Amino acid sequence: MALEIIESCVNCWACEPLCPNQAIHAATPHFLIDADKCSECVGDFAEAQCASICPIEGAIIDELGEALNPPGSLTGIPPERWAAAQAEIAAR
Ligand code: SF4
Ligand code: SF4
Repeated sequence: MALEIIESCVNCWACEPLCPNQAIHAATPHFLIDADKCSECVGDFAEAQCASICPIEGAIIDELGEALNPPGSLTGIPPERWAAAQAEIAAR
């Protein structure tokens, strides 16, 4: 049972000091979670501390590949509206 940080991480350092198990470390090209140390914060906190502070939607996923902060959850922008805006920008 462990979370994973993926490539959309922007290396902001916000999560690293919050981990109760020192499972998060800086790496190249992005931060990583040591799966052997990550407890998903069970027993320490009601929610995963790394995901609770991460400012990037989709940067932290669970073992099923599901984002802890899915698209739209932090920005409030519906995913379909975001996709439409990106398509419009790409077409310029
Ligand atoms: S879920 Fe908790 S234990 Fe796992 S990396 Fe994030 S802060 Fe650390
Ligand atoms: S808080 Fe999110 S974006 Fe920042 S270092 Fe951690 S995983 Fe990466």
